[in-house]
Amino acid sequence: MRPSIKEILAMKPEEKSRTVSGWVRTRRDSKNVCFFELSDGSCLKNLQVIVDKEKYNPEALLSKLTTGAGVEVDGILVESPGQNQPVELQAAEIRLLGEAPADSYPLQKKRHSFEFLREIAHLRPRTNALGAVTRVRSAASYAVHKFYQERGFFYIHTPIISASDCEGAGEMFQVTTLDLNNIPKEDGKVDYSKDFFGKQASLTVSGQLEAEIYAMSHSNVYTFGPTFRAENSNTARHLAEFWMIEPEMAFCNLDGDMDVAEDFIKYVIKYVLENCAEDMDLFNKFIEKGIVESLRSVVDSDFHRVTYTEAVRELEKNTGSFEFKPSWGADLQSEHEKFLTEKVFGGPVIVTDYPKEIKAFYMKMNDDGKTVRAMDVLVPRLGEIIGGSQREDSLDRLTARLEEMNLDKKDYWWYLDLRRYGSVPHAGFGLGFERLIQYLTGMQNIRDVIPFPRTVHSAEF
Ligand code: ATP
Ligand code: MN
Repeated sequence: MRPSIKEILAMKPEEKSRTVSGWVRTRRDSKNVCFFELSDGSCLKNLQVIVDKEKYNPEALLSKLTTGAGVEVDGILVESPGQNQPVELQAAEIRLLGEAPADSYPLQKKRHSFEFLREIAHLRPRTNALGAVTRVRSAASYAVHKFYQERGFFYIHTPIISASDCEGAGEMFQVTTLDLNNIPKEDGKVDYSKDFFGKQASLTVSGQLEAEIYAMSHSNVYTFGPTFRAENSNTARHLAEFWMIEPEMAFCNLDGDMDVAEDFIKYVIKYVLENCAEDMDLFNKFIEKGIVESLRSVVDSDFHRVTYTEAVRELEKNTGSFEFKPSWGADLQSEHEKFLTEKVFGGPVIVTDYPKEIKAFYMKMNDDGKTVRAMDVLVPRLGEIIGGSQREDSLDRLTARLEEMNLDKKDYWWYLDLRRYGSVPHAGFGLGFERLIQYLTGMQNIRDVIPFPRTVHSAEF
């Protein structure tokens, strides 16, 4: 393979000719010389290519070297007299691989709005900001695996099509091969026995319950995969298809769970700051001023930890600042979460011990009978990025919870078996990967940190 532009920019000037390929980003002309910047996506910086118009003179070709064109250049790497780059390429031979006519190629301006770019998701990775997001996202994915693999966690591929009836009902996308124009019915209801799996199926909203199965055999496991929620909320923090990382640890309580969550977030931040410095600098300058410094300080300090009850008490002191009045028993609104992180604690905060009514059936009950061993990690700008808990490991209490919540025990037979045979304390959490990328880059809209966003009424590519 040819060296990438990233590699070439790190090289010293040399005598021999080499071939470089990429796409023209910008071009400028003086009387005798044409300069164009070449990018191949390997890094934010471009390679400057110098064409001597007199020495090299196929006019027809030069006029086609416009923004977006794909080219191959043979030339000599020389020291650059400019400030912006150590080396540049003195072109000897240029081959146009694919032109991008200036009158129709949409990416002409230096800066386009993110809204506009969303409409051309097939071209937007060629811009500086989305290009940087792409590299950071890739580095962060690697850091996720690295963190868990270094700690001996096993990567479990939990199913994408879920046939268990026990996940959050309303938000699920159904998976079916039934003919929607001719649905088989029995007593007025859909006859799912005729469907592909012989029962109702849907896209997974979480791999947690399945991850618990493997935590009960392999102790420490994690999933990292796509998750689907038919969220009708049109926010800058919700997607219908997003990626979630869900570790699950046996012999672990809520404190251990919080420790892993905190170490994990810090690890990924650190990895990205160290390995994506150039891209982070772009976010620091143009997207969220000061983000690098603030992320650095997050790595160096402890996350605050408060109970839900304490958090609500803090919020009640500031009731006037909110659209929704905070009160014990109600879920924290995103404005409350942001207030806690930005105004009260000035950094990430972990809220624990939520009222059982607003949390899932599987969370371990506290001795007060009112709250559960839940924890949410909240961060400035976004609010919740992690939701987790210690799981209920007692068969009796879990069964009682199912009954209390009018859930059918039959649907949870295998989940209850985990409490019947060798049940041990365990805990885990889910981190929304796109929210983490938003946190790392300062990008305001979650649609701009995933290559192909799916949201309500929107899935083009
Ligand atoms: P929220 O209250 O913000 O909608 P949630 O309580 O529904 O989140 P969980 O079910 O706890 O979220 O999921 C774990 C994590 O997955 C969340 O902390 C968040 O980071 C992420 N997440 C949840 N829903 C979405 C979504 N629709 N799009 C992107 N990320 C999401
Ligand atoms: Mn949600």
